[in-house]
Amino acid sequence: MPAMFKYLGWFIKKEWPKYILIILFTILFTYALTVPPKYIGLAVDAVTTNVLTKSKALEYFGIILLSALVIYLSAILKNFLIGKLFHRLYYEIRNRFLRNVFRQDGDFFEEFHSGDLISRATGDSNTVSRVATYVFFHLLDTIASLVITFTMLVGLNFQLTIYSILPLPLIFIVVVILRPKIMRNWRQVRKEVSHLNNLVMESVSHVKLIRGFVKEEEDEEKLGENAERVYKTERKAVYMQAVFQPTFRMVTVISQGIALAYGAYLIMHQLNFTVGSLVTFNLYLAMFSQPLFRLGNQITVLAQSTISFERVAEIIRHQPTIIDNVNATELTEIEKIEFQKLSFKYPKDNFYTIQDINLKINKGETLGIVGKTGSGKTTLVRQLLRQYPITKGKLKFNGKNVPVYKKESIRKNIAYVPQEHQLFSRTVLENLNLGIGENTKLSLDEAVEYADFKKDLEFLTDGLNTIVGESGVTLSGGQKQRLSIARAFLKGADVLILDDSLSAVDGITELNILESLLKLREGKINVIVSHRLSVVENADKIIVLDQGRIVEEGTHQELMANRKWYYEQYLAQQMEVEDEK
Ligand code: ADP
Repeated sequence: MPAMFKYLGWFIKKEWPKYILIILFTILFTYALTVPPKYIGLAVDAVTTNVLTKSKALEYFGIILLSALVIYLSAILKNFLIGKLFHRLYYEIRNRFLRNVFRQDGDFFEEFHSGDLISRATGDSNTVSRVATYVFFHLLDTIASLVITFTMLVGLNFQLTIYSILPLPLIFIVVVILRPKIMRNWRQVRKEVSHLNNLVMESVSHVKLIRGFVKEEEDEEKLGENAERVYKTERKAVYMQAVFQPTFRMVTVISQGIALAYGAYLIMHQLNFTVGSLVTFNLYLAMFSQPLFRLGNQITVLAQSTISFERVAEIIRHQPTIIDNVNATELTEIEKIEFQKLSFKYPKDNFYTIQDINLKINKGETLGIVGKTGSGKTTLVRQLLRQYPITKGKLKFNGKNVPVYKKESIRKNIAYVPQEHQLFSRTVLENLNLGIGENTKLSLDEAVEYADFKKDLEFLTDGLNTIVGESGVTLSGGQKQRLSIARAFLKGADVLILDDSLSAVDGITELNILESLLKLREGKINVIVSHRLSVVENADKIIVLDQGRIVEEGTHQELMANRKWYYEQYLAQQMEVEDEK
């Protein structure tokens, strides 16, 4: 809790006038609540002593009416301001959350999966915002009620107050015992819900795969088991809360009983106490125990919110693994890339995925990377994107070590078409627009033409405005690849990486795109990963990877003369093509 408000210092600093106003309205509201009981008491006394006049009655009525008006107005203003604060805070937290997610590197997305991130950005952020506004001010309301009504009670009769509130500390004993348990349980619930979210997301996005393998029942069973576990943990938490709340009611009724009995005793023995005071006292006592009861609920909500806060703060405070040096410079163009004895291992692995890579690529060159699946081709090209810190060795752009440059500026100069095509469920146009940046030279039409996507556009009902993906038209693997390539062409970056991006296109389309590459990318760097060797045949240099190492290197002719893996693979693939014909 304190950690949360400490963190939210920036928000409170910005919005302090609203906080002050809410506090003032809260005090006014609570004070106004104590006015009617006082005048009801006075009226009762006037009635019992037969001194109530018409004008007195009207005066009391008027005062009660006025306090009702104050209660009404201050509550409206208070709630309106709290609501405004809540929405502002929720917006700001999500904004910071997303901004920090965008700053993160590869390892972050391996640690935090999308389902988990979504549940933190929505459910947990909402809880934090709600607690820092609604719950916080309700707590303030509670404390103001406790202080003000306690003062009123003592003002009526000190001894009676002490006796009547004697059972109330029992509530705190229950709070102390049960609270940590409830907290622990809610933490478990949130964790399991996150896990379930991830599973559901996976099942939904892989529904075709699951159906394809006729694994619906197994998947359903797995989800069912997890849902059951969430249900059981939540049920336990709810049970505990169920015990928590009635305790308050029981204790407050006992307290009222004592007040009535001892108050009656005071009146009967004429110990400076009137019937009217007893009425007022009891009304105050109800006002005093109500916030105590609320306090229990608020503590529970606060207990839950600590967990939500930790979950949100973990993301908002997460430092990217790669942080730019203070004197990092902008990389404005890439003319030369050099790998010097570069080895890399993924953060969670204890072995190197690529090892001792020595490689030079100059402006105007095309590098082909081939090798078996899992040999490290993708890992190698991803080094250029600076998604992970360099483990060993050096990577240089234009002769300078990579950490010299701002990582954002590196990514600006590279267009990467990943193996798994990432398209938004939006229109073709919106997907293409993502590629438009400061280096864009091509028009949309040209990019589409060069990527050989024009022929596909003709078949899409709304052309560029056709929505693709989950909520629209499903594109074939080849179409997705061509659209992704068009987008990368648009970017006009100095380095273009095609990571097996032609795997799903037919031979003619492949030729067309490779021809475009020659025309479009003259004087620039292309890195082409492919399992089909015909794609890299004309590259200036080809490397063959095996278990993360470069095992062959040279032009197509040189590698053919080598008579090793490349040669054998090339012949095998040629035969496949012949067979298909
Ligand atoms: P290729 O592109 O040649 O098929 P990859 O670079 O994708 O090879 O993979 C090389 C090896 O690294 C594989 O064994 C793969 O399982 C592993 N790998 C790939 N991505 C990760 C990752 N994010 N974390 C840990 N290991 C990974």
